[in-house]
Amino acid sequence: MAYINDNYSKLQASYLFSDIAKRVAAFTEANPGKEVIKMGIGDVTEPLPAVCRQAFHDAIDEMGTRDGFHGYGPEQGYAFLRETIAQNEFSARGCDIQANEIFVSDGSKCDCGNIQEIFSEQSKVAIPDPVYPVYVDTNVMAGRTGQNSDGRYDGLVYLESTTENGYIPSPPSEKVDMIYLCFPNNPTGTCATREQLQAWVDYAKDCGAIILFDAAYESFIRDPEIPHSIYELDGARECAIEFRSFSKNAGFTGTRCAYTVIPEGLTALDGNNESVSLHQLWNRRHTTKFNGVSYPVQKAAAAVYTEEGKAEVKALTNFYMENAALILKTMKELGFACAGGTNAPYVWIKTDAPSWEFFDRLLNESAIVCTPGAGFGTCGENHFRLSAFNSRQNVELAMERIRKAFA
Ligand SMILES: *Cc1c(COP(=O)(O)O)cnc(C)c1O
Repeated sequence: MAYINDNYSKLQASYLFSDIAKRVAAFTEANPGKEVIKMGIGDVTEPLPAVCRQAFHDAIDEMGTRDGFHGYGPEQGYAFLRETIAQNEFSARGCDIQANEIFVSDGSKCDCGNIQEIFSEQSKVAIPDPVYPVYVDTNVMAGRTGQNSDGRYDGLVYLESTTENGYIPSPPSEKVDMIYLCFPNNPTGTCATREQLQAWVDYAKDCGAIILFDAAYESFIRDPEIPHSIYELDGARECAIEFRSFSKNAGFTGTRCAYTVIPEGLTALDGNNESVSLHQLWNRRHTTKFNGVSYPVQKAAAAVYTEEGKAEVKALTNFYMENAALILKTMKELGFACAGGTNAPYVWIKTDAPSWEFFDRLLNESAIVCTPGAGFGTCGENHFRLSAFNSRQNVELAMERIRKAFA
């Protein structure tokens, strides 16, 4: 008789996006002809940079020749991509990260989700609230939590992001083993300062924890004082793994390319209290379960680091940040307390109303779709997220409608 992994039975169905879709469908049916503007989008909207498309095309043509054909590549990624990432993302910022410490993959979602596999089932896990759901759910699946009650799993340490702490949680008083952090944050759009991140690194080193740092939105940072990588902090090589992606900076959400950084020398303990290299463990896992990102996609990703690519990515992220500035300015002028929007493509907005009530009001009065904060966790209640991933026209129209409704 086959039995299921019963941990899956603990998972809470995520009704967030299906609930949103249902309410939008009901509104559209009741209001035919009224154009709904979606301001809740977590996907990029602008096309792939030209230099990436060209590199993609060229690599496909190369694949059509006997000499240029590429079969299985190295599971960890081609040297040409790992070297340019090491140079441009890390050496250029003074981070001591080498090409062989970079594992190329087909997405950060998978990497953030899979990384927990190399840690003990007994690990105590700290996770922000509100949060990108992948960190929580993958640990539930792996059996590191108890049951869910009132939206929270037994056994997890929730790092609350609230108005009081400016949506940047401090290290907890208790000891944990694994810590998920995401800066710039999805959904709050906030960034930890150098001092705040250093406190996390110091805490992790102190209790022997590993920080799992999701930096998928680092290319939206505009404040020169804010670290782009956890490896800009002293001691991070001894306690942190970092996740990066080409999804949000270069629009690769549908093209798929990302990478994970695990410093050589980063260790955790085995059952005999002996130090084991996490780099080697992940290498073992990656080469066993993953067979590499396609050659044309890696070529397209490497093109991000050409002079032309850098300019195109800058223009793309600037475009979204101009959207974010428009959203932030409007909401502030209307008297809403806002976070994010200056170093991240999300604006996190406080409301007195329960977040689903606010969602309905915005939809019914202004035909605008936001993301209710409660969908990201208990601490998301009384908040909503507006996304800068949109056309300028949509953002302008949406802000005009919101001004009318809330003036
Ligand atoms: C979009 C996003 C990613 C990137 O995921 P990919 O699988 O690389 O597309 C990672 N983390 C967060 C928090 C995100 O919002």
